[in-house]
Amino acid sequence: MMELYNGELYWDTTLEREGFEARNRKEKYDVAIIGGGMSGALCSYVLSREKYSIVMIEQDQVGSGSTSANTGLLQFSNDIMLHELMEQIGEKQAVEFYRSCKKALQQLQDVAENAPLDVHFHTRESLYYASTEEDVGRLRKEYDALKKHGFPVEFWDREEIEAHFPFTQPAAIVTDGDAEVNPLRLCIGAIHYAYEKGMDIFEQTKVLEIKDVDEGSIVNTTNGEFNAQTVIVTTGYAPTPEITIPQKDLKVTYAIATQPIADLSFWHNRMMIWETKRPYLYMRLTNDQRIVAGGLDQNIEQLPSEEETTIKFNQLKEELSALFPQQPIEFDYEWTAVFGESTDELPVVGRHPEEPNIYYLIGLGGNGTVYSMLGAYLIRDEVMGKVNPNQPILEIER
Ligand SMILES: Cc1cc2nc3c(=O)[nH]c(=O)nc-3n(C[C@H](O)[C@H](O)[C@H](O)COP(=O)(O)OP(=O)(O)OC[C@H]3O[C@@H](n4cnc5c(N)ncnc54)[C@H](O)[C@@H]3O)c2cc1C
Repeated sequence: MMELYNGELYWDTTLEREGFEARNRKEKYDVAIIGGGMSGALCSYVLSREKYSIVMIEQDQVGSGSTSANTGLLQFSNDIMLHELMEQIGEKQAVEFYRSCKKALQQLQDVAENAPLDVHFHTRESLYYASTEEDVGRLRKEYDALKKHGFPVEFWDREEIEAHFPFTQPAAIVTDGDAEVNPLRLCIGAIHYAYEKGMDIFEQTKVLEIKDVDEGSIVNTTNGEFNAQTVIVTTGYAPTPEITIPQKDLKVTYAIATQPIADLSFWHNRMMIWETKRPYLYMRLTNDQRIVAGGLDQNIEQLPSEEETTIKFNQLKEELSALFPQQPIEFDYEWTAVFGESTDELPVVGRHPEEPNIYYLIGLGGNGTVYSMLGAYLIRDEVMGKVNPNQPILEIER
């Protein structure tokens, strides 16, 4: 099994896991979801509202993949800025995609409200600052593009940033309508919702092969065969059964969680914070008053040695502390994780080009949860034969 992370994960400490009672396997399901991470969880939420019979098949425990390493920032702005995406795929499609990301925030809020446990979802603004003077022009261009297309955004100059935060930066845009979440609780909450609506769940069951046949699909696993009309593969960054996703690039990234900080009044409006530099430093607050921060991505495919990891964690802690020099910050958790990106910075979602009963939802990129949400609705629409504007933008062979 591919090693997805190392270290001590923070979100695992915020949840007591309950198992799922075994139910009898159905002869045939409408839908089989392979993988119980965020992508599988959100698919199960969306499809269980359509009265499909569903089975979720997970090789380990649900929510034990990259989802548990996720830092839980949910934003409509992406690693690729709107004005850059307009140059890449054209204005109409780029705006369409950004609007879907904005809508996904609302859809995620609906999941949070319907989940049978508190998933610590809070709407937030994001501060996206220019890391250098040279980046101010890019940020201004982004502000203009977002504003023109009706996205809620403000432009802040240096004085305005200094008036709200203890650090200074050349400029920033502030987007509204973003959110923070506890990603593990969101994932488990969405799965519990679908389970209560009748979805069967088979954990510790590894999928070995998926066969597309005339009357549906056969899923071969370490726990026997499952029959389903439609299969949705949501196996994350692990090698994907039956298909090579050509766009997939793996990296390693680092994250930390501080000890709780009693007085966070120095942090304006509990905003989420990130920057224009690549790789970027990003941060947010948690329900129990911690800072969760991440960054320092490296172009390597395997988790590094302990020595190298320690150097990176120290760098991350220094960068965070440098922003808040007056504030003593102690650290409780640190973890390093594999992270997947596509070369065009968009997720991969859609029907297999040759096997019409098999769909893929691979939530690549820093905004993976938003992508998993809009991808779940895209797959629902494809399965139901409805038109979805994201289909040509995100299809596997694009
Ligand atoms: C450090 C870090 C920080 C991040 N921060 C953010 C953030 O702030 N905001 C954000 O939106 N995104 C963030 N992401 C990205 C986000 O974590 C991913 O987009 C998300 O976890 C992907 O979910 P997934 O369900 O596709 O994959 P996973 O969570 O990995 O789930 C895939 C599941 O499939 C199972 N599986 C794999 N192969 C098989 C098989 N053959 N048979 C059965 N089961 C199988 C695995 O066991 C796993 O449980 C971050 C990622 C990392 C690593």
